[in-house]
Amino acid sequence: MKKIAFYDAKPYDKDWFDELNNSRYKFKYIEYKLNSDTVQFAKGCDGVIAFVNDEINNEVINALHSMGIEILAMRCAGYNNIDFKAAFGKLHVVRVPSYSPNAVAEHTMALLLSLNRKIHKAYNRTRDYNFSLTGLTGFDLFGKTIGIIGTGKIGQVFIDICKGFGMNVIAYDLYPAKDMDINYVSLDELFKQSDIISLHCPLTDQTHHIINSESLSMMKDGVYIINTSRGALIESEALLKAIRDKKVGAAGLDVYEEESEVFYEDFSNSIIDDEILAQLVALPNVIVTSHQAFLTNEALKNIADTTLKNLDQFFAGETLENEICYHCDSGKVEENCSKVQTGYCWISE
Ligand code: NAD
Repeated sequence: MKKIAFYDAKPYDKDWFDELNNSRYKFKYIEYKLNSDTVQFAKGCDGVIAFVNDEINNEVINALHSMGIEILAMRCAGYNNIDFKAAFGKLHVVRVPSYSPNAVAEHTMALLLSLNRKIHKAYNRTRDYNFSLTGLTGFDLFGKTIGIIGTGKIGQVFIDICKGFGMNVIAYDLYPAKDMDINYVSLDELFKQSDIISLHCPLTDQTHHIINSESLSMMKDGVYIINTSRGALIESEALLKAIRDKKVGAAGLDVYEEESEVFYEDFSNSIIDDEILAQLVALPNVIVTSHQAFLTNEALKNIADTTLKNLDQFFAGETLENEICYHCDSGKVEENCSKVQTGYCWISE
């Protein structure tokens, strides 16, 4: 039976992987994130399963390669934490391209509704028998303009949800969707016109800090910013300043630039070192959730299902449907692309 090192394993992951495994694989569940310090735990395994905050750098890739491991199955969609150039020719990287865009889009609306209608404050007040309404005034979402950056799978579901609320949706995407009823505008127009901005694009060199002091200065006073995509899309320090200056009315953050140091762990008995995060969390008009937008039963089941299928394809020598490499990632698939011809992004010598 093939042995798989499963990094950053949480109880909710184990539940679904164990249920769907059918004794196909022996999982070595490892609590730690995969990085240069923990890669040695994969010794003796035939493959690795990793997640969003693992650090899959050159050193980790070389260590896995020297252990004879050729398959890395990401149990997520995003892959900005992998050194793809280093992986090419050494490690096949597969992922779960789509598991539940609804899960993430619905969480995005949950953040927006909670911030606007001050549910987080009301919850604490009524638990303390404080039934005052002062300071809890929100606004109707109906008729407000929301700017969506990134209109892929999640962005499109979120657009439908916003339209259901009677909102005026505008959007920006580097590659606008065809045959969709989406009102595309330039990025600058989106910054200027939106009452609310929601991020649904991947983290790339182009989108890194797409929300920065310059873009924030273009926005309407009191704008709401929601990020359920990747933390580094927002320059956190600039956002903190803009909230303190009352330029930004509220922020809902499911992701954070430096989240790998803290998210998914319990620091309730410690003092966290990240001052920006500590300040953001303390603000009354900021809600931080710990990269949990994906966390529904449906999404977890789909993640386990597709990851197991990805591993099955690799060990059976079948076409790796969900493999990615730096060629595929760049979108520049060449005519003699190995994936098209062989079903693999690269073939061992
Ligand atoms: P997707 O690939 O279907 O859509 C991404 C969209 O962004 C595409 O339409 C693409 O053209 C667009 N895009 C690419 N570069 C852009 C740029 N420079 N400017 C504007 N748009 C650009 O991806 P998806 O499934 O909709 O996921 C979106 C993001 O959500 C992922 O990249 C991931 O980072 C994040 N995500 C977060 C969670 C969570 O739990 N918080 C879960 C899943 C995915």
